[in-house]
Amino acid sequence: MSSKAVKQAVMNGDRAFENVNRQDRSRKLEKRLIRQQRKLSRSYVQNKHRKEGEFCAKNRRKQLLVVQKLHARLANIRKEYIRFVASVLVKTKPAYIAIKDLNVSGMMKNRHLARAVASQNLSQFREFLIAKCLESGIEVRLVDRWFPFSKICSGCGEKNVSLSLADRIFICGNCDLEIDRDFNASLNLKYTNEYTVVTS
Ligand SMILES: [Zn+2]
Repeated sequence: MSSKAVKQAVMNGDRAFENVNRQDRSRKLEKRLIRQQRKLSRSYVQNKHRKEGEFCAKNRRKQLLVVQKLHARLANIRKEYIRFVASVLVKTKPAYIAIKDLNVSGMMKNRHLARAVASQNLSQFREFLIAKCLESGIEVRLVDRWFPFSKICSGCGEKNVSLSLADRIFICGNCDLEIDRDFNASLNLKYTNEYTVVTS
C-alpha cells in the first residue's frame, strides 16, 4: 500500500483495522491455493505409481511452482498489510501505544489457534510496530498478558466474570454500559497503570 493510502487512513481516523485474512483478495487467493494444492497432491499420487524411467515430473514441477507463487503472494499481502497498519498507527502521533504482551509461541502450541495466529503474523507485526515507535519516539507500553482486559468494565471497573468468548458485546451489570467486547478490552489496555515500557 502506498504512502498515499497511509495518509488517507490517518486522515479518516480509522480506529479499527480489518483482519487481513478476511479481505476479499486474501480469501480469493486462499481458495485458489487450496485448489492448486489439491491438484499438486493428485499429481504426486499419479507419479508415485509410475515405474522408474517413465517418471515424468515436468508437469508436477510446473504445478509446484504455481503453488509456491501463491504462497509467496499471500505472504507478501500479509507483510505489506502489517507495514501499512503500523505506519498508520505511528503517523497518528499518539503519546503512547499500549499492547498486550501476547504469548504467541504459547498460542502456536494450541492447535486450534496455531493456523489463525501464524497467518496473522502477530509476532512480526509486534516487532515492526515496536521498531517504528522507537524510531519516532513513541512510548510502547507492554501490558501483562494475564491482565483481565475483556472482563473488566471500562466505564466503572466492575468485573464481569460470566463473560464468555462467544459474547461479542460487553454488558456491565453495575453501570449498564453496553460496549463492543474488543473496544472495551482496548480501553482497559489503554488506561491501565500496570505496564512496562519497552526500551529496545
Ligand atoms: Zn460498568
